[in-house]
Amino acid sequence: MTIWASIRASAPAMWTADEIAQLCYAHYNVRLPKQGKPEPNREWTLLAAVVKIQSPAGQTCDTTDKEAQVTKEVVSMGTGTKCIGQTKMRKSGDILNDSHAEIIARRSFQRYLLHQLHLAAVLKEDSIFVPGTQRGLWKLRPDLSFVFFSSHTPCGDASIIPMLESEEQPCCPVVRNWANNSSVERSENLEDSKNKRNCEDPDSPVAKKVKLGTPARALSGCVAHHGMLGSGKIKPDISSSNLTKEELAAAEGIAPGSFRVVDVYRTGAKCVPGETGDLREPGAAYHQVGLLRVKPGRGDRTCSMSCSDKMARWSVLGCQGALLMHFLEKPIYLSAVVIGKCPYSQEAMRRALTGRCQDIMALPRGFGVPELRIEQSSLLFEQSRCAVQAQRADGPGRLVPCGAAISWSAVPEHPLDVTANGFPQGTTKKEIGSPRARSRISKVELFRSFQKLLGSIAEDERPDSVRVQKLDSYQEYKEAAAAYQEAWSALRRKQPFASWIRNPPEYHQFK
Ligand SMILES: [Zn+2]
Repeated sequence: MTIWASIRASAPAMWTADEIAQLCYAHYNVRLPKQGKPEPNREWTLLAAVVKIQSPAGQTCDTTDKEAQVTKEVVSMGTGTKCIGQTKMRKSGDILNDSHAEIIARRSFQRYLLHQLHLAAVLKEDSIFVPGTQRGLWKLRPDLSFVFFSSHTPCGDASIIPMLESEEQPCCPVVRNWANNSSVERSENLEDSKNKRNCEDPDSPVAKKVKLGTPARALSGCVAHHGMLGSGKIKPDISSSNLTKEELAAAEGIAPGSFRVVDVYRTGAKCVPGETGDLREPGAAYHQVGLLRVKPGRGDRTCSMSCSDKMARWSVLGCQGALLMHFLEKPIYLSAVVIGKCPYSQEAMRRALTGRCQDIMALPRGFGVPELRIEQSSLLFEQSRCAVQAQRADGPGRLVPCGAAISWSAVPEHPLDVTANGFPQGTTKKEIGSPRARSRISKVELFRSFQKLLGSIAEDERPDSVRVQKLDSYQEYKEAAAAYQEAWSALRRKQPFASWIRNPPEYHQFK
């Protein structure tokens, strides 16, 4: 993997995690409308974004200005907490299946990339892309890189975080007397009711609700910096652990006394069917780590993989998806992931996002697993569950996740797109199926933008992959992205990715 050493996209000193978080929170406050934001004191949401970093190295050589600045710009943003069930999926590509903030931010990023390709290939204007070596192919300007921000740890594997006995965590799972309760806890009925509860707050790594204390205490519960335990004196080494009893015992040996790993933060995302699943044993042995997980739905099973799994896939295949790969020499990789203040484990993040993707055999040229900087900011998103909980103290009513999702892309026309249940907010039942009932970041609309881009490029300037063969449906265009599909196959030969749930082909036949 030495070739990737030279492709590290950003020097460590170019930005701090707090700067990235602050920029995203400011963007959220200023650029996003009230529509789609949580109702004060009652709702919370999740926030994610892609930030473009321009290094001073890209400036012309005659720049003698020592204060040459790094430029940081939010190019896409998403909010949202929901995911539709399998029965609501549509073959026409006009519904958003997955509206978790990370996924909305990524689809909004694809919209931004399409616009930038239009600038480069059609309008021949300044763009983030410069010509590649082959006909019709483009590459990212070498002075640019992308940082992914999320206000919270991604759901799924990265959210299975060891919890230390000494921690005070009022808005986290209660450390209970498992010895007395375990047999009851494992009985079917309770299991069901617990799953139902998890579904209400599908994203949070904190699956159990706890009565609130004072605001100050509530906030302290959100500050679990497991990867940064002060002086480093106490570091339960559980990186390679599936948190089995044996390994836990070992972890306890390293962390004696009051710093035992007594439980894990839980994720509502369940293991994919057919896999060896969670042990569901009391306390820290509840989850099995490193597995693929499916997002919880509301009664209805979903087909959406957890954000941890999707982000792991981006680590190998890039963020651009199959369609855009037709125009690119190399995938668009993230150089870093920054997480806001929330329960967090550096080890769990590393394991989930890149650790599971090591040593993949036979990746095609241009693909790899580039180094990913992973950091946490100390700044809390003010509409996160923890923050809203703290602000409202003992306010009346239940705290619920906001049902809307906001998409924002750095594009000149209609940068905003607010949806609920996968359709533009306010869509009536009657309107479903009509062109106005489509989100701008739905599969069908992104495909339409892709086709429009292709159609605007002179025939002899088009990339070979879309010029020499006749392609029609969304599925055909995706399959024709040969290197991308080859990389995806290579990834699926590596565990745990073989059990990835893929939508049946009929969901991709639309034109
Ligand atoms: Zn998620």
